[in-house]
Amino acid sequence: MKIASIVGARPQFIKAAMISLAIARGAGANASAPITETIIHTGQHFDDNMSQVFFRDLDIPEPEYHLGIGGGSHGKNTGRMIEAIEAVLVKKRPDWAIVYGDTDSTLAGALAAAKLHIPVAHVEAGLRSYNRKMPEEINRIVADQLSTLLFCPTRTAVENLEKEGFPHRLSHQTRQMMVDVGDVMYDAALYYGDRAEEKSRIMQALALKPKDFVLATIHRAENADDPIRLQHIMTALNRIAGEIPVVLPLHPRTKKKIVMTDFPAVSFIDPIGYLDMVMLEKNARVIITDSGGVQKEAYFHGTPCVTARDETEWGELVETGANILAGAESDRIMAAFQQMLHKTIRTRRLYGNGDSAGKIISALGSRLIRNTRV
Ligand code: UDP
Repeated sequence: MKIASIVGARPQFIKAAMISLAIARGAGANASAPITETIIHTGQHFDDNMSQVFFRDLDIPEPEYHLGIGGGSHGKNTGRMIEAIEAVLVKKRPDWAIVYGDTDSTLAGALAAAKLHIPVAHVEAGLRSYNRKMPEEINRIVADQLSTLLFCPTRTAVENLEKEGFPHRLSHQTRQMMVDVGDVMYDAALYYGDRAEEKSRIMQALALKPKDFVLATIHRAENADDPIRLQHIMTALNRIAGEIPVVLPLHPRTKKKIVMTDFPAVSFIDPIGYLDMVMLEKNARVIITDSGGVQKEAYFHGTPCVTARDETEWGELVETGANILAGAESDRIMAAFQQMLHKTIRTRRLYGNGDSAGKIISALGSRLIRNTRV
């Protein structure tokens, strides 16, 4: 079985790493033919600390194709990616194109493959914020429509798709199938969590004490590209930093939009590798973020989380009290932070058993699923 993994952005390297690792560990070894994986990196994230560091940290095989497409507008990038991915897919003719999450690389990969009649598998299918102002929401809706296999991380994701009328018929021979496999990010948190303890030196490098600092990440377009929201969030972080150190690995998008010296109490650092990030997530007192992945990782590592957004795709975290949705007003963020300062998080199995990638490989290899008849 030939699979092509299409990646381009930071969270996708982590998700795809678990698929590569599962193959290397023998998942799908009983499939009718051995599994070969081609990794296609669109180039959406291109700085060393947003891209290559993940390949080094996570032991991901080098991409066979590096398309070098990044830095442009959504339309320009997506168009160029479709063209370049199509050329690779025509050459490699994989049995499956796997797309991950909700970025422009996800959208371009799904479109290029579907038009070539190469079945698409979407890892992290069925997530919805119900806010179409988010580019991610548009990407995931289209990717889900085009996918044959929809790998959902939660039961809620399956239900979201059912509400939209999934599974749809794709042709006379095939229809879509949703599978609740759990979350590959949980696989990653378990697998790399121990490794981070062993290898990361970030706590010493930043002179941080366990449970005596706040970790923050802010990068969503709805915050970074809105000067009022961004000012509010940064003001809250600067105030909190008067009470407890706040470490903020700064995403390139956000870096372009703020004057760091306006928030002198915040400790800005460059984006960090995954193992260092996991180490900070495990040791932080509270995490304040607008990232999808970081909200879940906070939970996996038992750290209370405040989310600087108006909605979340991970509603179960809010329902269990592990996460507070605080929006982007300074006072609300500060109040949520105070509420979370002494919170204990009891982690339950909301995201599977840590064996999602193996389940994905088995499902891909199963002819039964692949050739499901209407
Ligand atoms: N991450 C990282 N280094 C950083 C910031 C984030 O390794 O400096 C990781 C984080 O642990 C998570 C992923 O990147 O696994 C989340 O990516 P991001 O927040 O960019 O995207 P989202 O999850 O919101 O799509």
